Amino acid sequence: METEQISVDNHQDNDKNYRRAVDILTSGGVVAFPTETVYGLGALATDEQAVRKIFEAKGRPSDNPLIVHIGQQEEVHKYATGITEDGEKLMATFWPGSLTLIFEKIPGIIAPSVTPGVETVAIRMPDHPVALALLQTLHGPLAAPSANRSGKPSPTEAAHVFEDLQGRIPLILDGGQTGVGVESTVLDMTTNPPTILRPGGVTREMIEEVIGPVKAESKAPGEQAPRSPGMKYMHYAPEAPLFVIEPDATIIGEAIAALHVEGKRVAVIGPDDLTIPTADWYFALGPRHNNEAMAAHLYRALRQCDLTAADVILGVETDLTGVGAAVMNRLTKAADGKRYMS
Ligand code: AMP
Ligand code: MG
Repeated sequence: METEQISVDNHQDNDKNYRRAVDILTSGGVVAFPTETVYGLGALATDEQAVRKIFEAKGRPSDNPLIVHIGQQEEVHKYATGITEDGEKLMATFWPGSLTLIFEKIPGIIAPSVTPGVETVAIRMPDHPVALALLQTLHGPLAAPSANRSGKPSPTEAAHVFEDLQGRIPLILDGGQTGVGVESTVLDMTTNPPTILRPGGVTREMIEEVIGPVKAESKAPGEQAPRSPGMKYMHYAPEAPLFVIEPDATIIGEAIAALHVEGKRVAVIGPDDLTIPTADWYFALGPRHNNEAMAAHLYRALRQCDLTAADVILGVETDLTGVGAAVMNRLTKAADGKRYMS
C-alpha cells in the first residue's frame, strides 16, 4: 500500500482533502491526522473491521482500548451514559481539549474492538482545526490511538507517522507539528472521586479547580485487571538505556566523564540553557522550566536519540508544575524508572 501525505494548511481550501480522508474512513480504511496532543490513527469507531485495521497497522495488543474522538460535545450522549454533573462541567470547561473522559458505555454502538473487555468508553473532543474539520466532515466518531508503531514514541510530526507507518496506511493528513506534544489526560469518571489514569496537558490542579478532589493512579500494582488496560503494556523505551538525571551541569558533566571512561557515548535530553560541552549529543527541549516546550519536544528528542550511536541517554528532569507532571511521567516510563546514580 502506498502512503499518501497531504498537507492541510489553515490558509487553503481543504474541502477536497477532508472529503478524500472521509471517503477512506467511510469505506472502512484508516487515516492519520493531527490533534493538539499527538498525531492519531483514526478509523470509524462504529466499524469493527475498520477499527481492527488500527491494531494491525500499529502492531498494538488487541485488548488495549482506544479513545473515541468526537467533533461536537453533544455527541457524547450517543455513546456514553450515566454522565454526572461533574462530567458535564469538565466537558464544558475543557472541551475541545486534551482531556479524555471515561464514562459508562451505551452498549451496541461503538465497535467491540474499541472497548475490549470493558463496560466503559473513553471519549474526547480534540482541539485542533484539522481534527475537528475531519470529524465534522465525517459526521461520526473516530477511534484513534497515537499514530506510531507500538513501542515507538507518539508522533508529534507527520514525518514521524510516515517513518513508522509508511506502507501500512493509505493517508496522512499533515498539519505540521502538534502543540501539546504528549497524549491527553485520561480521567475515569466512573469512580468516586474520579481517577486520573494518565497525566497530560490538562493538569490535576486544573481539574480539581472545577470538580474538587480527584485520585491519581500512576500504576495498579498487583491489581488483577488494571483499570486502564494500557497500563499493563510495555512502554516506549529508547534503544539505549535512559536514565533520569538532576538539572545540574556539574552532576551531568561528572556522569558523562564516568561514562566516557567506560567507553560509552552519551546523548543528553534537556533544557536549552544547560551547558554540557562534553555530551556527545545534546537535544534541547526549550527554556528551563518551560514545561510546555519540554512536552512539545520530548518525543521528537527521543526519536532523535534512536538515530544516534549513543550507548546511554541522560534525560534531565523538570519540575512537576503544569504539564511538567506529564513530561516526567513519560520520561520516567521511557527510563523504566531508572535514575542516574554516580
Ligand atoms: P492511546 O490511544 O495510545 O493514547 O491510549 C489510550 C489510553 O487510554 C490507554 O492507556 C488505554 O488503556 C486508556 N483507555 C482507553 N479506553 C479506556 C477505558 N474504557 N477504560 C480505561 N482506560 C481506557
Ligand atoms: Mg499511544
